[in-house]
Amino acid sequence: MDFDLTEDQRAFQETARAFARERLLPYAGQWDQTRHFPAEELRAAAGLGFGAIYVDEAHGGTGLSRLDAALIFEELAAADPSTAAFLSIHNMVASMVSRFGNDDQRARFLPDIIAGRKFVSYCLTEPGSGSDAAALKTRAEATADGQYRVNGTKAFISGGGIADLYVTMLRTGDQSTGDQSTGGQTARGISCLVAERGTPGLSFGTPERKLGWNSQPTAQVIFEDCLVPQANRLGAEGEGFRFAMMGLDGGRINIAACSLGGARACLEAALAYVRERRAFGRRLADFQALQFKLADMATELEAARLMVHRAAVALDNGATDATLRCAMAKRFATDICFRICDEALQLHGGYGYIADYQVERYLRDLRVHRILEGTNEIMRVIIARKLLEDA
Ligand SMILES: Cc1cc2nc3c(=O)[nH]c(=O)nc-3n(C[C@H](O)[C@H](O)[C@H](O)COP(=O)(O)OP(=O)(O)OC[C@H]3O[C@@H](n4cnc5c(N)ncnc54)[C@H](O)[C@@H]3O)c2cc1C
Repeated sequence: MDFDLTEDQRAFQETARAFARERLLPYAGQWDQTRHFPAEELRAAAGLGFGAIYVDEAHGGTGLSRLDAALIFEELAAADPSTAAFLSIHNMVASMVSRFGNDDQRARFLPDIIAGRKFVSYCLTEPGSGSDAAALKTRAEATADGQYRVNGTKAFISGGGIADLYVTMLRTGDQSTGDQSTGGQTARGISCLVAERGTPGLSFGTPERKLGWNSQPTAQVIFEDCLVPQANRLGAEGEGFRFAMMGLDGGRINIAACSLGGARACLEAALAYVRERRAFGRRLADFQALQFKLADMATELEAARLMVHRAAVALDNGATDATLRCAMAKRFATDICFRICDEALQLHGGYGYIADYQVERYLRDLRVHRILEGTNEIMRVIIARKLLEDA
C-alpha cells in the first residue's frame, strides 16, 4: 500500500492546478453570477487531456486511472466546483461510450467528445423518477426502417440544451415500473441510446434557476416522436440500466473529488482569514475553539480524500466491493466537504455570506453533490443492502 503520488501523478496534478488557477479561478465568481457556460475553457481543458481522462489510449483517450481523475477533479474544483463537475459528467459519459459502444459508435462519437468539440449529457432522471430510476417511462419504439421513435421527458439534465450528445436511458422493453431496490426487475427493459442535438423532435426546457452549479445549464430534455437511429444504441437492448449504474460508480468518485476540491479551497480561505482578522484584541487564529474547528476540518477532509482515493483504486482494479466503496466515499465526502464549507463560512463571520469572499459560492456549488449521482440516502440504501447481503 503506497500513499505517495508517482512523478507522473504529481505532474498532471500540477498541470490541473495551474490550469485551474489561470483559466477558472479568476472568472468563476463572475460565471456563477451571470450563469455563463465557459465552453472555451472546457475545450482548453480537453486540450490538456481532461475531456476523456480514463478512456483508453487505444480509443483516443488519455488512458489514466480513476485515481488520477480524482486528483485532477480535486484541483479543478478547488477553483470552480461547478465547471469541474460539468467536466466530470462529460468524462463519465465519454467512458460509457468508450466501454459500451461498438467500433462504429466509438469512431463516430469519441473523437469530438475527447477533443471537447462536442459536449455530452447523461440522461437518466425523469420528472416522476429520480432515486427510483428504474421506474423511468421514456419509451423507444423500434420502427421498420432501423430507427427508434422516442417519446418522454428527462429532468434535471446537466448540459441540457448546450450539450451536443445525449446518452439517454429509455425503455425499449417491458413497461413495468417500480422500485430498483426490489432487485432491478423493472430495469430489464431499459436501453441506452445516443441522441444528437438537432434531431427533429428533440427539444429542451428553459434552464432551471438554481442554488449553485450556475456555470452550467440544467434543463429538461424532451423527446416528441424523435427518430433516433438504432445504430446509436450502446450495447444490446435491455443493457441500459446496468450501463447507467456502472457509469455512476465512477461518476460518484468524480463528484466526491469535486467536493474535496471545494472544501480544500474553503479550508485554505479560512486559514488565511483567521490569521488576519482580529477580535477582542487577538487574532481569530489565537482562539483555541477556532483552532480546534480548523483541526477537525483538516482531519475530516483528509479522511474523505482517503476514502475517495481508496474507492477509485477499487474501481480501477475491478474489485468486487467497488460499488460499495464508491457509495461510501460519495456519501461521506460530499457530506463532510459541505460541512467544511459551512464551517469556513462561519469562520468568516458576516463576510462569509458576501459573494466577494467566494466561500458562499463553494458552499452553494457543493450542496447539490449530496443530491445527484444518487442522493446520499440512496448511497445508504446501497451500503446497507450490501452489508445485509454479506451478513
Ligand atoms: C443541478 C442538478 C443536476 C442534475 N444533473 C443530472 C443529470 O445530468 N442527469 C440525470 O439523469 N439526473 C440529474 N440530476 C437529477 C438527480 O440525480 C436527482 O435529482 C436525484 O437522483 C434525486 O432524484 P429526485 O430529485 O427525483 O428526488 P426523489 O427521488 O424524489 O427523492 C426525494 C427525497 O427522498 C429520498 N428518498 C427517495 N427514495 C428513498 C429511499 N428508498 N430511502 C430513503 N430515502 C429516499 C431522497 O434521498 C430525497 O431526499 C440532477 C439534479 C440536479 C439538482
